Amino acid sequence: MTELQGALAELLALLIPVECVCCEVEDTVLCGVCAQNVRHLCKQPFRAEQESPSLVDVNGIATLQVVAAGAYRDELARCLLSFKRSGQWRLADVLAPCLAKAVESAIGGRTGFLLVPIPTNGRAYRKRGFSPVHLLLLWVRLRRLLPHCASIDALQKKRSWPMDRLPTAVFHMLTGRLADVLPGRESLVQGNGQKGLGRGERARRVRGSMRVRRRRIKDIRGRECILIDDVLTTGATLAEAARAVKAAGGVVCGAVVLAATRPPAYAPFAAEDDPHGVIKTQSKNKWLKDE
Ligand SMILES: [Zn+2]
Repeated sequence: MTELQGALAELLALLIPVECVCCEVEDTVLCGVCAQNVRHLCKQPFRAEQESPSLVDVNGIATLQVVAAGAYRDELARCLLSFKRSGQWRLADVLAPCLAKAVESAIGGRTGFLLVPIPTNGRAYRKRGFSPVHLLLLWVRLRRLLPHCASIDALQKKRSWPMDRLPTAVFHMLTGRLADVLPGRESLVQGNGQKGLGRGERARRVRGSMRVRRRRIKDIRGRECILIDDVLTTGATLAEAARAVKAAGGVVCGAVVLAATRPPAYAPFAAEDDPHGVIKTQSKNKWLKDE
């Protein structure tokens, strides 16, 4: 924290009373103890795709390798949730280095990767006015946390309402009506958000929803890309992003997320133990060769 940032934070604390987003101690948006706990939760990045049904095939082989900075729990979950709501720089100051560390673990000292952030959906963007992942990557760049990796805002959500979703929408309208009269059908009418949706439904919703911006296609064609997202759940969003980047000619080497909601039950994969990094390049990686 620079002196100016510190002074501004103190001034703001006087004007607008704040409290720690984790423990509610006053005068700071994230206290030193909780910041330390966030860093501790992200101490050992781990491989996380195995618990995400959209990222493994029927044989249990990963279709996209994902490294998570930490498990989505305790201070990390509260800090990230709060950051997604408000985007406070103090939270970014703690979260961005955790993300950068996970990327370092994934690439293992190699260089030349393009970091590709996952776009926020339009509704969330309009509500918040910013994209948390883009903000974190901006922080990574401003702090020069990953000087050997460039980030590129290549992906976008398709704006038009795809006609191939019409049958699904009609189905939802009908089942929505049915849910009013049938007990136990509530799960079919979850509204527009993805929370609470099962694997299949979530995957169907995001399939074909992203594309690479036309002016960015030449920048990612043939380049090794790493997808960046904040939270990993079923992996449907990452799978769709990987599809879009590959369709535009990019080489998707893997993904890095800040937190995984379903961390593996076994001890975290010791990413730092592997001198070559967790995410393998095309030549070393079986699943990439299979495409
Ligand atoms: Zn605290």
